[in-house]
Amino acid sequence: MIDQTCSLLTYGLDEDRDLTMADYESGLARWCPGCGDHAILTATQRLLETEQLPPEQTVFVSGIGCASRFPHYVHTYGFHGIHGRALPVAVGVKVRRPDLHVFVVMGDGDCCSIGSAHWVHTTRYNPDLVALMLDNGVYGLTKNQTSPTSPKGKPSNTQPRGALLPPLNPLSVTLGVTNASFVAQTGDWVPAHLYETLLAAFRHRGFAFVRILQRCPQYTTDLYEGAVRDPGLIELLVHPDGVSVPDLARIYKNQVRHDPADLDAARRLAAPDGKIRLGVLYRNETLPVYEDIRSVPAPSRAEKVALLNTELDRYAV
Ligand code: SF4
Repeated sequence: MIDQTCSLLTYGLDEDRDLTMADYESGLARWCPGCGDHAILTATQRLLETEQLPPEQTVFVSGIGCASRFPHYVHTYGFHGIHGRALPVAVGVKVRRPDLHVFVVMGDGDCCSIGSAHWVHTTRYNPDLVALMLDNGVYGLTKNQTSPTSPKGKPSNTQPRGALLPPLNPLSVTLGVTNASFVAQTGDWVPAHLYETLLAAFRHRGFAFVRILQRCPQYTTDLYEGAVRDPGLIELLVHPDGVSVPDLARIYKNQVRHDPADLDAARRLAAPDGKIRLGVLYRNETLPVYEDIRSVPAPSRAEKVALLNTELDRYAV
């Protein structure tokens, strides 16, 4: 018997509903004060309101980490899974139910370390879902351990003398995968840009990978502090097919026109050169989408009967 206490089950009954941000709120977010995750949650709820996404047809999937608490704070369906495995769960949901709006929320450890194989292959599969990778350069939930994107030399509990290796570049990795179709970068402290980037990602048909530079005032206080205080360190990528926020022009004067259709230019812009670039690096709507390829048409009633008869005939005596 269906449990009528699930509030989402009654949502779809009102066709004329006008959903507000409050309809997507769930519980009090328990991230640290000043954590960038709060701004990312707000921007995401604003996106859900703008697109009027029915909560009962929307799913948030996460792995393990601070960022992975996201599904608890969004009033939609959610799956708080296991470390690094958010993407395969989300792909499974999307293949079985392509009508659902699927979002994945991962941290840098979750996505770029234990989940790295899933990240590469989900990019190649190109399912129509949005992946938010909240990059704070540390394992925060487990209290300050070196992650794949920790800056070289950053001390942590696992590498107290400083991270030994240069950080992995999530943008370059994604742009290097066959079939990558949408790659963007934004920052939690630029809410207008963050929101427009999420909107562009959602409206892209295919796998939209968004790296969100996320402040962690507990363990990587200085990681983005320079860029937060000095907008001159940031370069905005602007284009009609990308993200343009005219109101930001007064603050962010370094703007570069970049056509997101140009993969070679996207790879050059993703390469580390000391600049922090925000915008859509690459977008290609022409690539095959996984659930379109994988979907198996449901058999008709006559076909089901024929299949059943064939199976039962095996036992005829
Ligand atoms: S540890 Fe860092 S990432 Fe985690 S909730 Fe606190 S500020 Fe946010």
